[in-house]
This record gives sequence, C-alpha cells and structure tokens, in this order.
Amino acid sequence: MTRPRVHVLALGGTIAMTGPGGHHITPRLGAEELVRAVPGLTDVAEVTSEQLRQVPSTALTLTDLLAAARRVRSALDAGADGVVITQGTDTLEESAFALDLLLDPGAPVVVTGAMRSPDAAGPDGPANLLAAAQTAASHAAHGLGVLVVLDEQVHAASTVRKVRSFGPGAFVSPDTGPVGWVVEGRFHPRTVPAGVRTVPEPDEDRLAATVVGVLPVHLGDDPRAVVAAGGLGYAGLVVDSLGAGHVPPSFVEPLAELARIMPVVLASRTGGGPVHTETYAYPGSETELLAKGLLPAGWLDTRKARVLLTLLLAAGVPREEIGAWFTPAHVA
Ligand code: ASP
Repeated sequence: MTRPRVHVLALGGTIAMTGPGGHHITPRLGAEELVRAVPGLTDVAEVTSEQLRQVPSTALTLTDLLAAARRVRSALDAGADGVVITQGTDTLEESAFALDLLLDPGAPVVVTGAMRSPDAAGPDGPANLLAAAQTAASHAAHGLGVLVVLDEQVHAASTVRKVRSFGPGAFVSPDTGPVGWVVEGRFHPRTVPAGVRTVPEPDEDRLAATVVGVLPVHLGDDPRAVVAAGGLGYAGLVVDSLGAGHVPPSFVEPLAELARIMPVVLASRTGGGPVHTETYAYPGSETELLAKGLLPAGWLDTRKARVLLTLLLAAGVPREEIGAWFTPAHVA
C-alpha cells in the first residue's frame, strides 16, 4: 500500500534547540534530524523535509509566514498529501492563524512545536511531530483549515492559544476545546471549526511595511499611549480592552480620534468570549466605542485580530470592508 506523502517544513523553535547540558539552548537541529528522531514516522508517511528558517519563534515575521504559505502550496502542488510546519511555541498561535488566513482550506496543514527541548528527560517534540504527521496524512483533516497539534490534541488555528510558559499542556482553545484528538495513531475529529477565512494574498514588501499596533488597557490606566499611537506610523490598532470591550472613560475621545485616521479594532483581553456589541452603555463601554467607529473583533482575541488586520491592510482591502472580516456571518 502506498503511504501518504507528508512534507515537513522547519522554522526552528525549542523542538530544534539544544545546548550544553540542556541549558542556554538555541535552534540547532535541522529538519532532517527532527524527522529522523521520530520513531515510527516513516510507517505513517513518506516524509520529505525542508529547512525554511532556523530561529526562535520570537524572530519570525508575517513575511516569513507568507514565505511558508507559498512553500506549503508548492509542496502540495508537487504531490504532498499534507504539510507539517515545526516552529517555536511562543508565537505559534499567531503563525498558525496567519497560515490559516493565507491558505485555502484543502489538504491538511498542521503546525506543531515542543515545550521541552530534545535534550530534556521526556522531550515532547518527537511525539508532537508524529501526531502532527498522522493528522497531516489523514483524509479527515481535509478542509478544516490550518490545525495545531500538541499533546495529542488537535486545535483550530483560529481558536488555539498558549496559556502557560512551561510544560506540555500549554495550548488550549478556551471557547471551543480541541476540534479533535490523535488516538492510536489516527486523527479523530470531534467537531468542525466554526469558520475558515481566506484573505487576499498581500504583496511581500507591503506586508513588511504594514505595522498594526496593540494597545493594552488596565485598571486606572492613562490614555497617553493612545494619543502617542497616532504619531507612530501604525496602519491600524487593536485595543486589548477590558472585559467585553471596555476602556476607562478617558480613553474614549483619543480612541475616537484614532478611529478617524486608521482602523481600530476592539478585542477582549480576557482570553475567551467575543467582545459585545449592544450590552453596556456607560462611558468607555463597547456601545460607545463602536458608535465612535471602532470595529468589534468578534470571537478573535487580540493576537489573532492583529494578524488579520495586518494581512487585510497589507492586501489593500478597503477600509469599509475590514469590519466584515472580523464578524462574517459564518463565524459571528
Ligand atoms: N522560545 C521558544 C520559541 O518560541 C519556545 C518554544 O519553542 O517552545 O522559539
């Protein structure tokens, strides 16, 4: 029987990091070494591999992800049945979502990494890479958009987030749970992602030049950063707001001013649930901010909203169309 073909694209991260005595680790293992370290991987699929970057994920950019999306397409065009991308976990939830937005849903594309380095007692990288390949080789993963596989859990790129700085079990999808699991070597879907969006592909130079700022908001905060944001050359701003989409009263006018010159998206810092649109009506509440021209992020958290807004602006999507990408009917 012919095995499915899975292409592994390596970008670096802890999964590839070694160092003296397991300390001071940096990315060193290449794509082929990662593949060779996984027992049973060649039983699952005919695996090819390629090194695209060799960096901690904090050094990745959206243009790297655009390059990765193009490599994914080439690998699929060349006959791969699925693609696995390995990278650092710190920004994995953003990378996976960027790929999800850039690629048409179709053949499985799976992002994975590791919380423990290859030198650790019980590294999770090989197990994660095996489960990712099993998912990428699965017909059941077709059309679900980009998936994230760690700890035998399979998450949608649009919902997953890293919620702990150490140890396996650091990734969850707070609102939905995983879309499935890898059990006995096979991907078992249990639900389908609520909606998969594909954005127009931006030009590389324009993407590199498009900077979307993020504004954190806290108890008793002062709005001087909002005022400053207007002069920083941002193409847009995402507000990491309180609760269901709220800011201190003193933020309202500076945010309204910003929303006149750039798209300003209102997301929630809570880590779960959508920003509201019609519940509260006090100064700094979501209804007031939306009336002043801010756009609700829907179910997207701040990190994912920033990725979406950056890609839309870099692709030249007209301002009046931007809001609909955050709350399209099928994902609202
Ligand atoms: N700092 C590492 C990175 O994101 C963490 C990891 O890979 O888990 O590259």
